[in-house]
Amino acid sequence: MDPVPDCLFCRIVMREIPADLVLEWEYVLAFRDINPQAAVHVLVIPKEHIPSLAAVEQRHDRLLAALVRAVNEVARQGAVADGFRVVTNIGPDAQQSVEHLHLHVLGGRAFSWPPG
Ligand code: AMP
Repeated sequence: MDPVPDCLFCRIVMREIPADLVLEWEYVLAFRDINPQAAVHVLVIPKEHIPSLAAVEQRHDRLLAALVRAVNEVARQGAVADGFRVVTNIGPDAQQSVEHLHLHVLGGRAFSWPPG
């Protein structure tokens, strides 16, 4: 899918909006969340605009493999040896606020379960 001009994360991919980048690969970008909920809080996104995980199609297989490997690389760089959490919110009930697929990588503290 082409970049969506009013999508915040497409604009970060296009370098129209600055972000604190931690990783850039062919299909994937990772940057620190502007409102961190843990010592490590990084968003891992596909460069391609995909509205959420629910919009993933077979043609995204290669991109998704890179996305998951990037999560592990972000965790390695963040030195979250005691564990980390990966979250993706889909739709209003889950309070998705940016409609561009992103995996939250959270670490550096203990988390509770179930999530709120
Ligand atoms: P979600 O609510 O799951 O859609 O997550 C969106 C996340 O994007 C939130 O955790 C926001 O803090 C984060 N966010 C919003 N704007 C920016 C930005 N300009 N740079 C980095 N993170 C952002």
